[in-house]
Amino acid sequence: MARRSSAKTDADAATADWPSTDHDHDLCVTDALARAEAVCDEQGVRLTDIRRQVLELLWKEHRPRGAYDILNELATQGRKTAPLTVYRALDFLVANGLAHRVESLNAFIGCTQPERFHATQFLVCTQCGATTELTDSGLQAAIQAAADAARFTVTRPVIELQGLCPICHETPPDDSQQIGTAS
Ligand SMILES: [Zn+2]
Ligand SMILES: [Zn+2]
Ligand SMILES: [Zn+2]
Repeated sequence: MARRSSAKTDADAATADWPSTDHDHDLCVTDALARAEAVCDEQGVRLTDIRRQVLELLWKEHRPRGAYDILNELATQGRKTAPLTVYRALDFLVANGLAHRVESLNAFIGCTQPERFHATQFLVCTQCGATTELTDSGLQAAIQAAADAARFTVTRPVIELQGLCPICHETPPDDSQQIGTAS
């Protein structure tokens, strides 16, 4: 296996981007949908209306959304959809690498790098729900090696770390509601 021997490789391999609070999120959505179209074209599959709509709703915020949340929003948009239809659309998005399932939340999130197949690791903020993909090939390799050593075949390499995102870390929960003291 050809490997560049650089001490920085492992550090460089681990990247996670938290969107800034003032970024132009419309751009995220437009970009995600355009890239999804391109990926579908390349894979010879169709991004149907419902698949596209579900993906757009997944990209509404940088946090995972549950299937029923999506279903409810479609309903409020006047688009009554059967749960099965939404589940199928989500299955399609996940199968084609356009979205990931966040197991610990039983929810889904749009993929930030749909062009390449990758194992997913997530950082999940337990305070605001912001979730980002962590791409660390070293971590993945270490887990694979450990599984191999245990003669274990990994079918779902789920890695989800829960904690606080940089914004929540800096702004602890608002406890101003503790007004005065009784008695
Ligand atoms: Zn955004
Ligand atoms: Zn991804
Ligand atoms: Zn947070």
